[in-house]
Amino acid sequence: MRSSILVFVVLLTLCSCKKSNEEGAATCTPLNLNLFSLQKDIDLGAKVAAEIANDPTTYPLLDESAYPGAYGHIRRITNKILTSGNVKHQGDFVWQVKIIQDDNTLNAFCTPGGYIYVYTGIIKYLDAEDDLAGVLGHEIAHADQRHTTETMTREYGIGTLLQIVLGNDPNTLVLLAKGLTDLKYSRCHESEADDYSVRYLANTNYRCNGAASFFEKIQAAGGSSTPEFLSTHPDPGNRVQNINAIADSKSCNKTVPASDANYAAFKASLP
Ligand SMILES: [Zn+2]
Repeated sequence: MRSSILVFVVLLTLCSCKKSNEEGAATCTPLNLNLFSLQKDIDLGAKVAAEIANDPTTYPLLDESAYPGAYGHIRRITNKILTSGNVKHQGDFVWQVKIIQDDNTLNAFCTPGGYIYVYTGIIKYLDAEDDLAGVLGHEIAHADQRHTTETMTREYGIGTLLQIVLGNDPNTLVLLAKGLTDLKYSRCHESEADDYSVRYLANTNYRCNGAASFFEKIQAAGGSSTPEFLSTHPDPGNRVQNINAIADSKSCNKTVPASDANYAAFKASLP
């Protein structure tokens, strides 16, 4: 009896990666608890989004009415990914995108239910639209595969999250929103999000291994920061290898553009 309980506990704490024969992408067996319904994902995302909107010091959102061009660019990119045909909850989640005006932060993140946030820092840091699409594909995958609520359930406990969704606990909510950008996904979730980024982009005209560019560029510069996208695990070098291996298996477009006028226009539209 005791040993079977122990095995169960061990299984719950591990995230097993399997290779799907059909698609060639890693899939994380959902052994971690996720007691959230799709609607609860959306509710939690909406509450975190409201918290972000009410905290302009931490999250200085770029005003859409003042910068409609920038929002036009970011929506064009996210819509291409969302309509790639491989986003499971494309019709279920909100998929709202906001730009955070902070040139010093190389990051992007996505709440449960599909509220996407992209910092001006990472937009300006990258060289081509394909590269940003790769990062956004990765973040969209975390929400679409519901890694966020799985991870939050593990980190904060289901009781805390249900209290937030069902009741009214503003103090906990503030902590949750602040902790969101530092959320550490499992190695399996990171690999799976990288896999899905390639799969999404393979069905668009973007370079399908665009997600690798961020790692290559930050490694070349000897960067040591650890934003969500540059998680401490798996090793960034391995992630470049994995992303390129999946891209090779799909025979999708990997040609690096010589220049990217659309992306240059996007950068120029930012403050
Ligand atoms: Zn990630």
